[in-house]
Amino acid sequence: MKRSSLAILFILFFFSMKAQQKLTDLQKADQLIRQMTLQEKVGQMTQVTLAVVAKDGWGNQDGTLDPAALRKAVVDHKVGSILNTTAHALPVEKWQEIITQIQDEVKNTKLHIPVIYGLDAIHGQTYTLNATLFPQSIAMAATRNTDLASAAIKITAKELRASGVRWSFAPVLDIGRQPLWSRFPETYGEDVFIGKTMGAAVIKAYEEEGLKNPTAVASCMKHYLGYSASRTGKDRTPMYLPEIELREYYLPQFREAVKAGASTIMVNSGEINGTPVHADKYLLTDVLRKELGFQGLIVTDWEDIIRLHTRHNIAATPREAVVLAINAGIDMSMVPSDFSFYDLLIEAVNKKEVSMARIDDAVRRILLLKMKVGLFDNPYPEKIAAANFGRPEYQSTALDAAHEAMTLLKNENNTLPLSRNKKILVAGPSAQSISALNGCWSYTWQGKEEQWYPADSKTILQAITDKLGASNVTTNTGKGFDNPLNYDVATLTAAAQGVDAIVLCIGENAYAESPGNITDLALPGPQADLVKAAVATGKPVIVVLTEGRPLFITKEEPQLKGILMAYWSGKRTAEAVADVLFGDYNPSGILPFSYPRSMGEMVLYDRKPTEDVREIFNSDMTMDGYKPLFPFGFGLSYTSFGYSDIKLSADKLNATGKLTVSITLTNTGNREGKHAVELYSRDLYASITPSMKRLRAFKKISLKPGESRAVTFTIDKNDLAFVNAALKTVTEPGEFELMIGEKKVKFEYQP
Ligand code: BGC
Repeated sequence: MKRSSLAILFILFFFSMKAQQKLTDLQKADQLIRQMTLQEKVGQMTQVTLAVVAKDGWGNQDGTLDPAALRKAVVDHKVGSILNTTAHALPVEKWQEIITQIQDEVKNTKLHIPVIYGLDAIHGQTYTLNATLFPQSIAMAATRNTDLASAAIKITAKELRASGVRWSFAPVLDIGRQPLWSRFPETYGEDVFIGKTMGAAVIKAYEEEGLKNPTAVASCMKHYLGYSASRTGKDRTPMYLPEIELREYYLPQFREAVKAGASTIMVNSGEINGTPVHADKYLLTDVLRKELGFQGLIVTDWEDIIRLHTRHNIAATPREAVVLAINAGIDMSMVPSDFSFYDLLIEAVNKKEVSMARIDDAVRRILLLKMKVGLFDNPYPEKIAAANFGRPEYQSTALDAAHEAMTLLKNENNTLPLSRNKKILVAGPSAQSISALNGCWSYTWQGKEEQWYPADSKTILQAITDKLGASNVTTNTGKGFDNPLNYDVATLTAAAQGVDAIVLCIGENAYAESPGNITDLALPGPQADLVKAAVATGKPVIVVLTEGRPLFITKEEPQLKGILMAYWSGKRTAEAVADVLFGDYNPSGILPFSYPRSMGEMVLYDRKPTEDVREIFNSDMTMDGYKPLFPFGFGLSYTSFGYSDIKLSADKLNATGKLTVSITLTNTGNREGKHAVELYSRDLYASITPSMKRLRAFKKISLKPGESRAVTFTIDKNDLAFVNAALKTVTEPGEFELMIGEKKVKFEYQP
């Protein structure tokens, strides 16, 4: 009797287990939701910063958690997510310990729902000591090499996951059309096509292996939408954007990222046309959910719900702010420094200001994300993932990326590459700075504290000295960007005696977000003085620019023999710079933005015809209004390339057809080199004034001297489309031109 009831019990248990296994993630999430109290649900929607649970709060230096504070967050407030570091990056083992402690605390909750941890991995895993830092996105865009961008992200994902973290707050998909903006270096530059192509590639790189895989992490496309368009360039200041512009330049990257499978999205902290995006139901629900079909999680940016009340002044009370944001479509609030959101949202639901259906919808997305990244299977740092941290081969990917980013802007009389036997003065504030080679989000948020960088990080001075030997290199500089020695023109002049050339390293030290706000793009006076002094010595001056955005060098440029744009290219920047200057690497980077000439010449490459027109009198008109110092797509090589035989597969395209354009690229010089072939199109006449040109495709090709290769691109009508007055994306019939270099072909689009 006893035996048979045991057997029945066993069979029942077996079948219930079976049934359980068959449940989809969605069913499991709904089952959980049915067991959850309002408090548990709202807790899931709450995200706090590490300082909230760390010993000494923001004063914390070593990642030690405060058990009572952790309990208060995880058990009392049931928080679903934690983010960020406190002061600086932490060792990988420390992160594993932190995540372990947090997930251990989860065991003291009723439902054991794991916490999801998120970090900003902006150009590599920012907040783990010794993680590999790659070029910033602006520099990755200069490579025009999406495979390289993907390779860097795969490493970033592995180093995050090794740290026990499964959510990256990247990539930034904001378009860089306002170079004053302090987050310009985090963008892929001014072009929509590069933004959507690189963006989709890196999202796939993060997620395509499947988020349960210990090599992958969830991505977060950000900051939806229009964040980069502030008029003044100041971070988090108002944008005024007509929807036609929003859809033409700002939305396509997100549309493409959704298609590429991005799991999460972060919202723009700013306001568009007076509506803060965190309260914009049209953008968050109608456009993002319904039109783009985004199913994943929507998280706010830093404190952005409370700021609807404290800064934007559209909510008269903090609770109204919460109600506006959640009803607009926000799923998770990066509160992040207290539990006010938790209390206010509970109050709002009890007062029926937010429906339980909206709460359940948000919680469902959060639970589904946690299931997708495997947290319900094993919330702890995985041993197998930990083994993927800091592998030696990552350094060579970092060097490849830094190499390909290097953009040679000027090389008068082939001054470069410099001979190794020459004596060189290395001068300027970036000569002995590590932070000015890496920029924002480098082991600290601002990236300025050099003590956190890996001990083997090189300065430009070191990399050049390694190459030439100490006896051939001299400097008047001291360590650190702001060191007063670096700005001393008298010592520069003196040190230049007896050298053959001056490598002058100027630009910007690291900054991130609002602390990086500036009032104009002028080269700071002390740096302009350095250029003057260097030029006055009569020695050839080569300027290396380490900067996150283009500073004007218009006055200086004519006197310089060489200009190398190095951007902020990560850990291996210095070696990449030295390799290019001394000919060990042939540069192939090309600008992902128009390097402006002055404040009054801020025209972008995809200008409208009337921006191209320069009219003196009616009869006296030129078509050269686009006059940057260096145009979009510009970059020199130590070899030369030529195009021939541009051909179209047909001279007509219809609505369902495809058109192939082919061209022969030849390395006409005497060095092996890489070249980015870019295809542009121009719609000759359209109902909305067409751009003079739009980038539609690119391919990076490597050729030996004398070698030729046929390069082909296939396009269809969607590649030629634009947003019309009715806000529809259309391709209108008529004549189009395709351009590769100076070569052009025309065809007719007839649907
Ligand atoms: C930034 C975000 C970032 C967040 C968390 C905010 O200030 O705007 O890009 O993800 O902080 O660190």
